[in-house]
Parts: sequence; structure tokens; C-alpha cells
Amino acid sequence: MDQQRRVRKAKNPDDPRADDHTPEELAIMERFNNPGWDEEETDHLVPMLPVAQLYARDVLLPHPPGGSKADLLQVLWCPFDHPEQEQWMPRTAVFWRSTADVTEILTSPPEPYAAEELYVPVPCVLAPEQVIEYPTPPDLSKELQEQLKDRSRWQAAGARIDAGFAPHLDSYYAGDLSVAPGWKTGGHPRWGYVDPWPRPCLSCGTDMDPLLTIASVEWDGGGQSWIPYEDETAAASPRNHVRDLARRPTAIQIADLHDQQIYYCPMDPGHPHRELMQ
Ligand SMILES: [Zn+2]
Ligand SMILES: [Zn+2]
Repeated sequence: MDQQRRVRKAKNPDDPRADDHTPEELAIMERFNNPGWDEEETDHLVPMLPVAQLYARDVLLPHPPGGSKADLLQVLWCPFDHPEQEQWMPRTAVFWRSTADVTEILTSPPEPYAAEELYVPVPCVLAPEQVIEYPTPPDLSKELQEQLKDRSRWQAAGARIDAGFAPHLDSYYAGDLSVAPGWKTGGHPRWGYVDPWPRPCLSCGTDMDPLLTIASVEWDGGGQSWIPYEDETAAASPRNHVRDLARRPTAIQIADLHDQQIYYCPMDPGHPHRELMQ
């Protein structure tokens, strides 16, 4: 299945493959090519795209909500911005499943015949690694934030700090030690793009937990410590496309290379999730 190619071609009205579409699809594509096209209207017309499928046997998942026995997390999204909800990124749907209950699988799931190209992921398999994260400075107490700037504490801990970081120890902590870049389950909010704000469940008021981060880049030029060993050669390349092949395997892009982080209610799988640009 080559969704990207199909979407690109489908966007072109002269695409001979348009003949392969159903009359319903052709009618929707015609609307896309209409300058008065209303994106909001598209929401319920385009099949959602699969974005992540994670098995508990492969990836450490946060505890499924409400003590359920789910061992499979599936995330899909509507591959457009949603300005009507002031959400300049796709809107996701989250499904917790028990693999034992999944018996009938569609052999040819519906594909979107239109999508924002930046929101069509290149299919990837995962090579997950487990890392420990710590809250970023905005989520720490004032006292801990001050301690991060105290050079003597770093020295006492035997940390070897690059001289360039010396005046910015809290930035070094934020970039290289606290929150890992890239796609991940669990972890902490990065903050920075938006200021910290409480994330209560809209149904029951329970604090929501980070579930999945959908990242534009696996690593960036800032926190060198997170670059996987196997990507170090690519990371040192002066050629952008060499670096991008390694750091952007899915080729999706949230805004200006940001992340889309999904939060879930740990109490009840039926409570709606929330999402933040990070
Ligand atoms: Zn939508
Ligand atoms: Zn809730």
C-alpha cells in the first residue's frame, strides 16, 4: 500500500488513477479542487489514517485506562488541520484493544483519497528503546530549578559538562537529560511551545497522563545526547537530506517540526483524550 503516492496522485485532477475511485470518492475530490472547499466538511468524509499500532509485548505502554486488559494501542488521525477547533494539527482517535478479541481484520482497509501530505506517515517498523525521563524545568519546583543552575551540585555529582553549556546548565538539563525527543509512549511534557497548564480529564477531572508523542523529528541539533549510535554518522553529515532521512523516518511534520502529544485519562477508556502541540 503506497498511501503517499496515491494521495499525491489523487490531488492531481488529471491523474489517470482517478478512474480507480468510486463515484463517492470522485465527488469528494471534486470538492477538494473547488476554491470554496470547506475543510471542516471533510472531517467525516475521509477515512482516518493509521498512525501507530503498538503491542504491549513490544513497547512499554502506560497502564491501560480503568484497569482494562488491553494489550494493543492503535492511534489513527484525520490528516488535516482543524482550525475550527483552533487545532493546527490532525485530530486523533485512540483505541485500546485486547488482541485476543481481534478476530476479523479488514484485508483492504479504506484509504484516504485526500490528505495533507505532511500528515501521511511513511510506514515504519519500530526499534523501541526504554529510557528514563525527568520533568522539564517548568514542571519542577522553584527550589529544584535553582539547584539545576548550581554548578557545584553538578560537579559534586561528577557530571562532565561541556564548557559551552556552563552558563546554561538548566538548558543542558532540559535538552540533553530530561525529555527525550522522537516518537514515544509515556514520558513527560516538553513544554516550550506552550506554557505549562493543567490537563484535567474533561469528564472526571483526573489529571491526564502522556500517552503517545507523535514527533516530527527523532532527534535535533540541540540535545546531542539523544542521537542513537546508529544515526551518529548521518547526524554529522552537512547534507540536510542525509540528516533528514535518519531523523525524520516517518516524514510527518507537525507545524514547524513540533510534536503532537496525546494525553489520556487513566481512569476510564471512554473519557475523551486531549492533545497538545509541544
Ligand atoms: Zn479532521
Ligand atoms: Zn476521566
